[in-house]
Amino acid sequence: MSRVAYVNGAYVPLEMAFVHIEDRGYQFSDGIYEVISIYRGKCIDMEPHLDRMWRSMKALSISEPMGRAALKIVMAEVIRQNRVQDAILYIQVSRGVAKRDHAFPADILSSLVMTCRRFNFTAVKDRAKIGVKVVSQPDIRWGRCDIKSISLLPNVLAKQAAREQGGIEAIMIDTDGYITEGSSTNIWMVTKDGRIVTRSTQDNILSGITRAAVLSIAEGLQMPIEERAFTLDEAKAAAEMFLTSSTSCAMPITQVDNTLIGDGKPGTLTSRLVTRYWDMMDNRV
Ligand code: PMP
Repeated sequence: MSRVAYVNGAYVPLEMAFVHIEDRGYQFSDGIYEVISIYRGKCIDMEPHLDRMWRSMKALSISEPMGRAALKIVMAEVIRQNRVQDAILYIQVSRGVAKRDHAFPADILSSLVMTCRRFNFTAVKDRAKIGVKVVSQPDIRWGRCDIKSISLLPNVLAKQAAREQGGIEAIMIDTDGYITEGSSTNIWMVTKDGRIVTRSTQDNILSGITRAAVLSIAEGLQMPIEERAFTLDEAKAAAEMFLTSSTSCAMPITQVDNTLIGDGKPGTLTSRLVTRYWDMMDNRV
């Protein structure tokens, strides 16, 4: 069955889903997006995702393409027409179509597109039993990484470099040697004395929805938490590491570059958090 996309008011077969070549998303990557997991037919953390989407639009003065209630109806319809149970829903809002000029007109109407594709969560859950390798890359992004902008070229190049070195993800390092975040994930370490550490969202990273969920699980388990920057060297010497994102969920990191983390197997505290995260996913549906 053909996939169905939503493009500015119409549900169309994916092969016929097009936007105008003067769409500013296409010409300037002037837009924002969200990626939401659909697990057993339900959106995971829909409200926090939509909160963040509205924050991103506001930060860039992009007009909302429709109200939040209407957007939820379109989301449900895209999921229904694609007949998916486990999937990833992609929502993108660009500033809209205008004559090419860096500055934008005041009255421009934003463009909204949505796609949905099947996703194998069981594979993610299985992978979490083994863990993943990540590769460090310089963070060459701008100063507003809190906005979920579609300007992803530095992230694209970092992920590609990581893949070419056998890693599943790139972890990005600032000029002082601190880990900022992954190319599409948030990064965590567990210190040898059992403290869960992840960079603060006040510190030019994306406020991950999965990050927030895992923080509240860790709090519930009374694990000591520190929201602070940590260096690549500190992480390589840590007891455990993991990453979080909507599609990776909570995923142990067992190798960074050529260094094994701990004994090269998913850590104990990490595995507890992973298990609890999946319990939460399963209980939400
Ligand atoms: N950081 C970046 C740069 C990302 O692109 C993502 C994925 N959206 C994340 C972190 C993780 O965010 P979330 O848990 O909301 O998927």
